[in-house]
Amino acid sequence: MISAYIALGSNISPRLSRLQTAGKLLSREGDVDRAAPVYRSAPYGVEDQPAFLNTAVRLKTHLSPVALLDFVKAIETQVGRQQRYRWGPREIDLDIIFYGQEIVQQPRLTIPHADYKNRRFVLQPLADIEPAFIPPDAGQPLSELLQLCPDSLPLKLYRKNWMIDGI
Ligand code: AMP
Repeated sequence: MISAYIALGSNISPRLSRLQTAGKLLSREGDVDRAAPVYRSAPYGVEDQPAFLNTAVRLKTHLSPVALLDFVKAIETQVGRQQRYRWGPREIDLDIIFYGQEIVQQPRLTIPHADYKNRRFVLQPLADIEPAFIPPDAGQPLSELLQLCPDSLPLKLYRKNWMIDGI
């Protein structure tokens, strides 16, 4: 089994229940053994839109990276994702940030996810899950990458325990 680290976000109501449904669906293909708290974050990129709820989970899975991408895309559809413009509002967004220590560079899939080091709303929940994890493209653990993160958009703790079946 590989530990995949998946970032979840939503800024279209009902935000928390979309995260909860996505978390539950993820466990169909493995074991969601850690979940970060949910944070409320100001929108990134296009600022004139509702605030996001963001979190991250660790999924122990047998799926290959591409199979995992297909799986998370299917969950997005199931949770109601509509196609809109880039950086725009989204019912649910699931991004694969890490897949163990693997580096994947394919037309449809880049792992580690591009730009994760610059986004506090991604790094903070990842660091909550496993502060000592050293990503394959970094020489430092997540806890240190978080200290170095240039993004100063505010993050506010929204809900500590949110997974439907708990962990
Ligand atoms: P998004 O708009 O964030 O849902 O992502 C759009 C596209 O990014 C997806 O259809 C994927 O093909 C591509 N993508 C590339 N790398 C990743 C990754 N690590 N996790 C999720 N999507 C990815």
